[in-house]
Amino acid sequence: MKPFAFEYYQPANLKELLGLLNQFGDSAKLIAGGQSLAPMMNMRMANFEQLIDINQLSKLAYIEHIQDRIHLGAMTRHHEVAASEMIQQGCPLLSFAASTIGHYVIRQQGTLGGSLCHADPAAQMPLIALTLNASFHTQNIDRERTLTAADFYTGAMSTSLEKNEILKSISYPIFTKDTAWAFEMFNRRHGDYAIVSVALCVEFDSDFVIQKIRIGLNGVSDFAHDYSIFCEPFLKLPYSAIWLEDLIDHLQSVFQPFDDEKISASYRLDLSKTLMKKAFHRAINHYSSSRT
Ligand SMILES: Cc1cc2nc3c(=O)[nH]c(=O)nc-3n(C[C@H](O)[C@H](O)[C@H](O)COP(=O)(O)OP(=O)(O)OC[C@H]3O[C@@H](n4cnc5c(N)ncnc54)[C@H](O)[C@@H]3O)c2cc1C
Repeated sequence: MKPFAFEYYQPANLKELLGLLNQFGDSAKLIAGGQSLAPMMNMRMANFEQLIDINQLSKLAYIEHIQDRIHLGAMTRHHEVAASEMIQQGCPLLSFAASTIGHYVIRQQGTLGGSLCHADPAAQMPLIALTLNASFHTQNIDRERTLTAADFYTGAMSTSLEKNEILKSISYPIFTKDTAWAFEMFNRRHGDYAIVSVALCVEFDSDFVIQKIRIGLNGVSDFAHDYSIFCEPFLKLPYSAIWLEDLIDHLQSVFQPFDDEKISASYRLDLSKTLMKKAFHRAINHYSSSRT
């Protein structure tokens, strides 16, 4: 199938882009890497009158370390996020998760901003943004806004971006030296979206006692979700196999897994348990070995 007819615009700078969006509003659609939108256009699942190509906006592709955060422009490609030494050192969960998106060619084209705005419920980038409480910097012709990840997302495939507004950049906190992390996912074929994914950060004190946990999962409710708050009763206690079993039982009691035509809710729950265990073991082993 071929896409329906549309007018094509290629603004040369941000001012021109915001002017076009202000003029066309709801009837226009941005295209960044095209890795999600182009298939939807070809299947006629996306309907708009003007397509605004933002690939000329090279100033929206950057990675910068400012104070205790890493800032990325929305047009930064997945492969740049994965390969950046600054991110590998400062926010390794983000670079590792980016390296697991789709296939090599998809990561060459797909952008961080596109993935965050598309808000696919199985996608890695919304999950990492929610787990790390990233800040979303948006702009329209009149104003700029900064939103938390939780405020940016209103559900699966849905964000609080206004019709004439773009996502301009995203910033993530830099990890402390006592942060252990892991990212675990399971898909049936390499390059497919995951059925369940787990993003985890654990912070220890000098006695190896867990002070803070950030954990987010995809695939156990209708969208990526940050479950960190449910870990609070388990903080400042020594890590043990029983502690981990209890924590996982507690987290599973708040998941809302769903059946679809291929995967049952109970399979999702079983998988989440396996992946959470793997994530904790990987994070803690990695942290212990880095200190010896
Ligand atoms: C075969 C295949 C496998 C894939 N596997 C995975 C996977 O395992 N995990 C995963 O996460 N993704 C996967 N993807 C999707 C891929 O990550 C896309 O790159 C991503 O979802 C969208 O990024 P994009 O730059 O291509 O955005 P586009 O497709 O160009 O746009 C997506 C949406 O975001 C909007 N948008 C883009 N940029 C902005 C902006 N700056 N401000 C406001 N709105 C904007 C567009 O209007 C559109 O609605 C896969 C894609 C394919 C084709």
